[in-house]
Amino acid sequence: MLVGGKELPSHRVHCEIDRFYFGRTYPKIHRSMDRPVKVYGKGHRKLFHDVHWARFIAQMEYPADPYAEKSALLHLEFDFWCSEDKEFKDLLEKWAKDKIKERKSWKKTTKIIQESKGTKLKRKGKRKRKDSFDMLLDYYKDISRRGNKKF
Ligand SMILES: [Zn+2]
Repeated sequence: MLVGGKELPSHRVHCEIDRFYFGRTYPKIHRSMDRPVKVYGKGHRKLFHDVHWARFIAQMEYPADPYAEKSALLHLEFDFWCSEDKEFKDLLEKWAKDKIKERKSWKKTTKIIQESKGTKLKRKGKRKRKDSFDMLLDYYKDISRRGNKKF
């Protein structure tokens, strides 16, 4: 989404970030926070994009879920980072796209195996400690440091 010449992460990216950190998504938060973009366009970041609103929207959409607020705060962080750095934003979009593709192909494979064996298959092993998202963040911290930004 273009906002005043600056780009913000797509809905898809916000949801994949949720999935990464919380193992589930909070689409209603991201939709509510980004709703003004459809109406106000460039004013998007000013509306609903502060800590106060983020907390309010999180509580409204997912009451009693302690991670909802964290998701809303991450939304703010990632909007900010991406608006500062288009390259980072593009990398995130690519990462989200790959994740979705990966999940789809996993589902497909599981289905084929289930159909042939008539059993349910579970993912084996824990998630790798460093996946491409961590690497992306490391990369970002690194270039930020070189650029003397505070992160
Ligand atoms: Zn946003």
